[in-house]
Amino acid sequence: MTAPSAATRRAAELRETLSRALVEYYVLDRPSLSDQDYDRLFRELQQLEEAHPALRTADSPTQRVGAPVQSAFQTHRHLVRMLSLDNAMDDAELAGFEEAIGRVVGDDVRAQGYTVELKIDGAAVALTYRDGVLERGATRGDGTTGEDVTVNIRTVQGIPLRLQGTGHPPLLEVRGEVYLSFAGFEAMNAARVAAGEPPFVNPRNAAAGSLRQLDPGITASRPLRFFGYAAVLPDGGAPAPTQWALLERLAGWGVPVAPHRRQCRTMAEVTAWAHEVEHTVRGQLGFAIDGGVVKVNDIALQEELGIRSDRTPRWAIARKFAPDLAVTRLKEIAVSVGRTGALTPYAVLEPVEVGGATVTYATLHNADQVAAKDLREGDWVQVVRAGDVIPYVVGPVPERRTGHERRWHMPAHCPRCGAEAVRDRDEAGESVALYCPNVACPGRQLEGLVHFASKGALDIDGLSYARIQQLLDAGLVRDAADLYDLTASQLVPLERFAEKSAENLVAAIAASKARPLSRLLFGVGIRHVGAQAAQLLARHFGSLAALMAAAPEQLGAVRGIGAIIAESVAAYFADPGARALLARLGERGLTLEEPDAVEAHGALSGQTVVLTGTLPTLSRDEATALVEQAGGRVTSSVSRKTSFVVAGEEAGSKLEKARALGIAVVDEAGLRARVAGTAP
Ligand code: NAD
Repeated sequence: MTAPSAATRRAAELRETLSRALVEYYVLDRPSLSDQDYDRLFRELQQLEEAHPALRTADSPTQRVGAPVQSAFQTHRHLVRMLSLDNAMDDAELAGFEEAIGRVVGDDVRAQGYTVELKIDGAAVALTYRDGVLERGATRGDGTTGEDVTVNIRTVQGIPLRLQGTGHPPLLEVRGEVYLSFAGFEAMNAARVAAGEPPFVNPRNAAAGSLRQLDPGITASRPLRFFGYAAVLPDGGAPAPTQWALLERLAGWGVPVAPHRRQCRTMAEVTAWAHEVEHTVRGQLGFAIDGGVVKVNDIALQEELGIRSDRTPRWAIARKFAPDLAVTRLKEIAVSVGRTGALTPYAVLEPVEVGGATVTYATLHNADQVAAKDLREGDWVQVVRAGDVIPYVVGPVPERRTGHERRWHMPAHCPRCGAEAVRDRDEAGESVALYCPNVACPGRQLEGLVHFASKGALDIDGLSYARIQQLLDAGLVRDAADLYDLTASQLVPLERFAEKSAENLVAAIAASKARPLSRLLFGVGIRHVGAQAAQLLARHFGSLAALMAAAPEQLGAVRGIGAIIAESVAAYFADPGARALLARLGERGLTLEEPDAVEAHGALSGQTVVLTGTLPTLSRDEATALVEQAGGRVTSSVSRKTSFVVAGEEAGSKLEKARALGIAVVDEAGLRARVAGTAP
């Protein structure tokens, strides 16, 4: 069945919004959506795709775990893929989870029941132990490949450098969550604010950001902690027969395991546990959780149940909790200016404790939302934090109105520069948001430079929010190209700069010239172009010159680049101001090429390849690189869409599946022949 165009359009829109949110959340550690909103949009997309399977694209956020790795760290391929979890929002959805299990394994689940655990809201990591000694620590990344953050992992309190006891498996991957306690989070933020740096939004983002510091000294200074919740062996098996026994084993090896875990025979016991945790335990914990995790206890049954999609297992589910709620005064509605000029209203609140943290500001998204909720300045409002992340104003408490509340209207002018605001329209021609059109607006310049210098972009160490504000105030910079003209002698006279720090900043700015084109494309802030789209474009075209010469149709033909992005990129390059900026950046020696460019017309262009078993000479990473260099893509599981499978020694179930589906299987020599284009 072909999908109606409204569904197609909505799905594309949801994919873009969610993909952008993923990068903000996982790469930049600066989410702009609340988890609640993210989960709601995610479900909407899932439902659309279920109703219209043709809308399910390979790059859809519903088909992926996390976001691709983009950082200065080495990458690390996980022993076995790290997955995400499906969510159950209420008891009925938990019952649905049990029913789905029953359809596969019947009543077998009753014998060992379930293990339930707190869902720690931190950053997932995988720790490799060889003969009981910590060898490597990596982030989850996109589930297949994470960042190698071993030096930082070694500084996390509680992670054993050597497992206790004896008889450890020769190779073991312990998985768990690195997190920050509320107390640690607040102390860390107080120190940041005192140093003129912006505070982290929540403990999860702070933990993830701390783990990805390039200076392990900084990571060590942050009060990070760890809880383990899984362990896998190289063949995908587990070092225990049940999840419960596995947690006991981890604890016996000296790995911290979260409290309040329980074995439940029935779903009724699971539900009772979840209620107890949500309403009693949660308020007493010193760290953030965003739910409970329910796992089929028997590991053999887990294997039988397998995965539900490429993203989630069928044998576990996250029971998410209702967000914490508080009531406070809405003192004022203010408006911020984003780097693209977007004017966004936000609530200035009487500080209030919600979910273990003090909340003073909350985003209101746009003027329509304020009107729809009928929020007035001076109102008493309900505020929630969805387990964590960004505080969110649910609505007013009208019974508490006194008649002195003030109705609010979106200002017609930019609050920073006074320019008349303009309405932006979406592709259907509907007006969506107000923008400040003034490219020289100080609010836009500030946000633009903050983005340019951020981790996922040019990653300029030491160029903090406060520093950028200072450079703008001193009239030393107006745009990104100006940064590269700065000299230490210009900086030394400024407050909080000394000779050494000035030199360090100039050196950090100079070092950023070497970042690949994809980072620059992301950094200049082209509307709709997130880190992932920037990478796809840079890899496809290889150089800025080739990209600028491409027609919109050529841009749209790149896999993963939709019409909206293609048009936005073409419009950006058509703008004389943007062209001038890029020319000036080029003159200052920034890299305008992508080292990992893919041969667009390589022998494997458009093909999907699965690797299994051990190849005679190539490692996994080398084989993957070979495929990608020839324009192909490596995926982890065999499906009808797989072009061919490369099988080495001890190839397992993937080989069987390929045979069952009648998909071509080649060995290493066969792979090389296909890459060279000499295969028969
Ligand atoms: P998830 O957080 O819903 O669940 C999977 C993760 O739970 C695992 O990777 C693991 O790290 C963690 N976990 C904690 N305790 C665990 C335990 N005891 N056992 C097993 N796993 C445990 O999934 P996700 O893919 O990490 O993230 C998706 C969620 O993140 C979304 O539902 C949303 O709430 C949030 N998110 C928000 C935004 C945003 O813009 N606000 C963007 C992306 C994702």
